[in-house]
Amino acid sequence: MVVLVGVINCLSYFFVMQIIQLNVGGFDNNYSYLIVGENNEAILIDPTGNKEVIEKTIKDNNLKVVLQLLTHDHFDHTELVDYFKEKGVPLKSFEDLKKENPFEIAGIKIKTLFTPGHTKDSVCFKVNNNLFTGDTLFVAGIGTVDYGGNKVELEESLAFLSTLDKEITLWPGHNYGGAKSTLGRALENSHIRPSEKMLAQIKKKVEEYEKQVQ
Ligand SMILES: [Zn+2]
Repeated sequence: MVVLVGVINCLSYFFVMQIIQLNVGGFDNNYSYLIVGENNEAILIDPTGNKEVIEKTIKDNNLKVVLQLLTHDHFDHTELVDYFKEKGVPLKSFEDLKKENPFEIAGIKIKTLFTPGHTKDSVCFKVNNNLFTGDTLFVAGIGTVDYGGNKVELEESLAFLSTLDKEITLWPGHNYGGAKSTLGRALENSHIRPSEKMLAQIKKKVEEYEKQVQ
């Protein structure tokens, strides 16, 4: 019996980390992510877009969201932060991330890579062999520096990312060119720039949003 209890205890320490990519719509094909760790506890990255999509996934998988993280502070990545805060899910701020790196929660070790460029506060989260890149790097292209960014810093951050293992799975903040890739392939595609038409569409959407919140 003692042995059996030992086995059960032992088993409870082994869990398979799961990544759920959520197609939440939002401003422009945004992704939120749930990383599921021990005891069905989950970390929510970039809570945004359609909250029903996120809530249904939480319910269907019987998850308890224990932390919110942001890849950066643009409105289209943060729309549901207050909603989940009100439900008791804390947010680790950019300042918090600087103080504790790496950190561990739900049995998952998270390393924050500070990758300014798209914005001053842009980060990537490295979890095992996965990299959540927000708007720093997409499957095909990089985030614009037009909204609080800096081109030189972005180039430096991409150079830094190119020092990492190229086989790492890349999970971007938007579906621009695909849902996921490897870091190596995404870096090869990082020269791709959105068309003038696409940039004009984004500009229009931002203006519409700013009007709404005024
Ligand atoms: Zn952004």
